[in-house]
Amino acid sequence: MTATSDILESPEAVLTTLRADGRRRWLYPTPSPGRYMDARRVVGWVLILLYIALPIIKIGGYPAVLLDVMQREFAFFGIVFYPTDTLLLMAFLIGIIAFVILGTALLGRVWCGWGCPQTVYLEFVFRPIERLLEGKEHTRKRRDEGPATWDRIWRKAVKWSLYTLVSAVLAHTFVAYFVGWGDLLQWMTGDPREHWGFFLLMAGTTGLILFDFGIFREQMCTITCPYARMQSVLLDPESLIVSYDPSRGEPRARRSKAKMAREADGLEAAKGDCIDCYACVRTCPTGIDIRDGLQMECIACTQCIDACDSIMDKIEKPRGLIRYTSENELAGGKTRILRPRTILYSLLLLIAVSAFTTVAVSRDDYDVNIGRVSGDPYTVLPDGAIANRLRFRVRNQTGGPSSFDVAVIAPEGASIRPIGALPITLEKGEMKRIEAFVVIDPSSVENGVAQATFELSFGTGGTERYDFPILGPSGPGQTR
Ligand code: SF4
Ligand code: SF4
Repeated sequence: MTATSDILESPEAVLTTLRADGRRRWLYPTPSPGRYMDARRVVGWVLILLYIALPIIKIGGYPAVLLDVMQREFAFFGIVFYPTDTLLLMAFLIGIIAFVILGTALLGRVWCGWGCPQTVYLEFVFRPIERLLEGKEHTRKRRDEGPATWDRIWRKAVKWSLYTLVSAVLAHTFVAYFVGWGDLLQWMTGDPREHWGFFLLMAGTTGLILFDFGIFREQMCTITCPYARMQSVLLDPESLIVSYDPSRGEPRARRSKAKMAREADGLEAAKGDCIDCYACVRTCPTGIDIRDGLQMECIACTQCIDACDSIMDKIEKPRGLIRYTSENELAGGKTRILRPRTILYSLLLLIAVSAFTTVAVSRDDYDVNIGRVSGDPYTVLPDGAIANRLRFRVRNQTGGPSSFDVAVIAPEGASIRPIGALPITLEKGEMKRIEAFVVIDPSSVENGVAQATFELSFGTGGTERYDFPILGPSGPGQTR
């Protein structure tokens, strides 16, 4: 149970979770059963399963979502990005940003309240474990503030053990997004002495997750999350928000049902529908009073809607004193979906999606790069031929295994002497390079340059031609 008096104790308090002296104020939000809670529970569990499944499900041979920073390989639902896909990545990131700002302008903080892993795991996994082992909010508060009894110790010990177990599962899920389940399973089942780095990584990640969900909790949203910090610029008066309706609720007054009946009969001065019961405050996971207006700490979790609706049912007033609405609607205006900023964001999203689709569709199966190896630009061989040392770098972007071979087809009489064996096999997504001496006749060189054409043939069939300048002496009879 949130200590309402605590929240109001200090007018200079800046955050409901901090006391005036900077100490943490622990919140005990009461759950509020209702239609939104039921819907959020369903959405929450679907998302929990999805978050676990995304790095496991394979699409086109890759995990549905993979952010392999070490191998510099990123996969999203079958589309694989490599570090060389600058345009594709740029369009993708701009698209994500446009989607987020458009979504926020229209739906406010729906993501925070319904979809963010911080919210769904806390509300539907960690808090239920806590309630199961330590009881209801007022019981937990009384026990926490009381002496360290055996009853308190065993409950907390079991709770933290379960928290640790769940955090370890979440840590494995989290790390799987960065390394893929294949590697993860190998590390998990292999000899620990060979993967001590993995154990340190897992222990650290488990510890951070445990700290977040066991201790830090709502402060992740109110203090740390950058998305929360941007709400003031992303929301406008027509964005969807969870809000109290002061025109209906005020003047608020604590009173009995009988007194309200007398108000209805005109026997007493009528008050607003808010009976100042604090149910909306007690249920709020960030400890705010929604009746104070839109606040940065509100994650739009809808718990206060359910809490107030059940009070309205009890006092036989219409539901919706706290509801999904917009600032404009509360002021008697309308909420438009099409407004300058949503049109602009939609256009930006459309441009990003079009650019992404165009680049993705036109992307080659192989990323080929030919370059000169550092050192002398050319060498004149004893027989007068000119040799350049080049490197051929090829990435296989086909989604399956392949290989490549290199041949030189111009100028006439040119030959290639690879340093290593050709053809070279390539796993999917793999990049390999080979160096080779390209030898040409000096008569091909004009003004120090001869244009060479290379033909690369690939294991999946097909060939591609690439031109590259071969350097040589810039004057007749000139040698180095
Ligand atoms: S739950 Fe509803 S009636 Fe109770 S204090 Fe909040 S707004 Fe007022
Ligand atoms: S004010 Fe309401 S919607 Fe906002 S965080 Fe608190 S309970 Fe959730």
